[in-house]
Amino acid sequence: MLERVFLCPENLEEMMNNNLQFHPETLSVRAGSESTEYGENSEALFLNSSFRFKSAAQAAARFGGTEPGNIYSRFTNPTVTMFQNKLAALEGAEQCVATSSGMSAILACVMGLCSAGDHVVASRSIFGTSVQLFGNILKRWGLDVTFVSLTEPDEWKDAATAKTKLFFVETPSNPLTEVCDIRLLADIAHQAGAHLVVDNCFCTPAIQRPLALGADIVIHSATKYIDGQGRCLGGAVLGSKALMEPVYGFLRTAGVTMSAFNAWVFLKGLETLHVRMEAHAKSALALATWLEAQPQVSRVHYPGLKSHPQHTLAMSQQLSGGGIVTFEVKPTSGKTAQESAWALIDSTQLISITANLGDAKSTITHPATTTHSRVTPEARTAAGISDGLVRIAVGLEHIEDLKADLALLTS
Ligand SMILES: *Cc1c(COP(=O)(O)O)cnc(C)c1O
Repeated sequence: MLERVFLCPENLEEMMNNNLQFHPETLSVRAGSESTEYGENSEALFLNSSFRFKSAAQAAARFGGTEPGNIYSRFTNPTVTMFQNKLAALEGAEQCVATSSGMSAILACVMGLCSAGDHVVASRSIFGTSVQLFGNILKRWGLDVTFVSLTEPDEWKDAATAKTKLFFVETPSNPLTEVCDIRLLADIAHQAGAHLVVDNCFCTPAIQRPLALGADIVIHSATKYIDGQGRCLGGAVLGSKALMEPVYGFLRTAGVTMSAFNAWVFLKGLETLHVRMEAHAKSALALATWLEAQPQVSRVHYPGLKSHPQHTLAMSQQLSGGGIVTFEVKPTSGKTAQESAWALIDSTQLISITANLGDAKSTITHPATTTHSRVTPEARTAAGISDGLVRIAVGLEHIEDLKADLALLTS
C-alpha cells in the first residue's frame, strides 16, 4: 500500500523530475524523436497506411509479434509511435496508446479494462461528454457507474464494491477547477482493488504528473494544450505496460486510432508545451486576481488563488494553477444570471466564443448551456455549475488586452 505523503511546493519540482534522465523541458523537445536514413531533424510524417515486409516469413513474424516493427497504421505508425514515446516520457509512463480523440481515449481505457457487470466510480465534476459516455452509453452496455463528489474521499470509499475496476477523476475539474488529492484517492482505489484514472487535460505533464503521485492511468485530450493551437483532435491513454496491453488491444481491433498527420502536429505542439503552459498560467493568475476585484463578479474559481478551497492541496501537486479561470457573473439590472453571463460573452471582441480550450487564442464559454447542456439541471446544480458561470481558457494574448475585452465587468 502506498504511504500518504504531503508534498510541499519546494520539493514538488524535484518529485516531478524524479526518475527522469533529462529535465522535462528537454524531454518535450527531444524524447521519442527518431530519424530515417535521410537524417531529418524534425520528425517525419508517415502518411501511409501499410508497411512492406521483406518476405512472407517476416510478415508472419510481425503479425505474430515475435519481430517488432510496423504493420498497418491502424495500430502501428512511426509518427504516432514518436508521439506516444514523447508523451510517455513526459508523464513518466511505461506506455502510451494514442487515440483519435480525448473521448476515444476514455472509451479505449474502459473497453480495455472493464467488462459488462463491472463497476466504475467517477467524479460528478467531469467533462460533460464524459458524463454522457459513462452514465448513458457505457451503462447501456452493462457498466455500472456511480458518480460521487471529487472532493469527498469518503464518498469514494463508500461507493467502491468488489466489482469496482476504475476510479475516474479530472483534477482540476472542468469547469470549476476543483482539485482532488490524487495520492489519497489512489490509496482508496488500491485498497478497493481498483485503478485510479486521472484525466490530466487541464494541467498536462508540464504542470502535474499524476503517475508520480500514485495514479495508475493518465488520460489526455491532446486536442487541448498538447496541440496548443486549436488544430487537431487526438487523445492518449498512459500507464504501465500491463495495463496498456488490453487498451492497445481494443484500439488495434476497434480502430480508434490517432491519424499520423495529427500525431505529427502534436509532436510539434509538445516541443513548446512547457513555455506555453508557463505563459498560460502566468496570464491566468493575473486575470483571476483582476476578476476577483471586479464589482460584477461574485466568485472566481482558480487553483492558483488563495481563495480557492483546495489552494494548498493544488499547489502541492501542481506547479501552477494552469490556464483555466471560471467565474460567476452577478445578475445585473433585471437580468437573470444567464442573461448577464451571455451579455458579458457577447460584449467581447477579442476573446473567441467557443467551447474549446488550450488554444493560443483565449476562449470564453457558458458551461451551463454548452459543454454541460446535456447534463440535467439537477445534476448541474449538484456539480455547482450555475447559470451565471463563465469559463475562460486564457490564451497567449497580452493580459491587458484580455482585461480590456472584459470591460463590461468593471462598470
Ligand atoms: C475536451 C475534453 C475531453 C474530450 O476530448 P476530445 O479530444 O474533445 O474528444 C475530455 N476531457 C476533458 C477534461 C476535456 O476538456
